[in-house]
Amino acid sequence: MNLSLHTLPHTSDGAAYELTSLHFGPADTGRKVYIQGGLHADETPGILVAVTLEQQLRELEAAGKLRGEVVLVSAANPVGLSQWVMGAPIGRFDLSSGRNFNRDYPMLADQIAEAVDGKLTQDSAQNLAVIRGAWRAALLHREPSTTFDALQRSLMLLSHDADIVLDLHCSREAAMHLYTGEAIWPRVEPLARYLGAVASLLALDSGGRSFDEAHSFTWWQLLERFGRDFPIPDGSIAVTVEHRGQRDVSYELARQDADAIIAYLTHQQIVDGPVAPLPDLLGPATPLAGSEQFRAPSSGILIHRVKVGETVDIGQPVFDVLDTASGQCTTLQSHTQGVLYMRRDVRYVRAGDPLGRVTGAVAQRAGMLLSA
Ligand SMILES: [Zn+2]
Repeated sequence: MNLSLHTLPHTSDGAAYELTSLHFGPADTGRKVYIQGGLHADETPGILVAVTLEQQLRELEAAGKLRGEVVLVSAANPVGLSQWVMGAPIGRFDLSSGRNFNRDYPMLADQIAEAVDGKLTQDSAQNLAVIRGAWRAALLHREPSTTFDALQRSLMLLSHDADIVLDLHCSREAAMHLYTGEAIWPRVEPLARYLGAVASLLALDSGGRSFDEAHSFTWWQLLERFGRDFPIPDGSIAVTVEHRGQRDVSYELARQDADAIIAYLTHQQIVDGPVAPLPDLLGPATPLAGSEQFRAPSSGILIHRVKVGETVDIGQPVFDVLDTASGQCTTLQSHTQGVLYMRRDVRYVRAGDPLGRVTGAVAQRAGMLLSA
């Protein structure tokens, strides 16, 4: 295992942040996996899974069972980890700019396309290398002006050339679910099975420029641009895994999830060993645009009528909001048949607040599909 430190430029005197990446296995096989936890720094379950993976990867490496390089960044956001306001951790948004740490990643398909134009051939593997080379050059060409931008660039430099990119998150209160690109779902499906995901939300472009989309959507754009004339590979299988809710932190769950990821890496022939039988898929993949987003009709006490992970029917009550001033209770019913895969962790809401989401098989939303 090799350890690398990546210093982020500081924007004020005396403050410095450092990113640590651990590199396991042979780096010269042409196969690479990148896994990070804690991009939203207050999402501890994913960090614990990454830390659990570290020990497993050490053992696999010692046993000579890694067929490619696995890069692990357990705490991908040292800036967010340092943010506390009145005793509470703030890890989702950058306090100095208000930006979400998992939005607005650099989308470089145009720059890459310009650089590789005229250099592609009928050799898919060669095209993969040419594109990754141009991608790296485009990232290095960007001069970050803030610590936030530098963090994004560092994470992309570590991951842009990986065949598999796993970004480990969690939601507020949630069942295991994941987000990934529509075009790469067949290759992600085994991971959803091993993890026991109750929902897999698919989008080509969610509008959020999240970390996983900065990988998969870029490859899709390059395929659209050059795919008619040249063989363009999938490039990277990028997935955002939501390891349940923020408080679902336990050795048992972390071990279960880390084992599932190792099983997937074995299935993908990155780890040497017998491939575990694929469990049933617990919930079908559905369009992210098909999820129903519930919002509070008024301020009041939020009462949940459905457990996370439960399947709901059309018309079934999902939330009650009790207006404490008028005493009136408003019941919100589901308009789709699907799974309540995530919900807020507060019990008092203001009018317009998001409450939770139920999957739906039919796309009904457009534009920005993720929360801000
Ligand atoms: Zn997150």
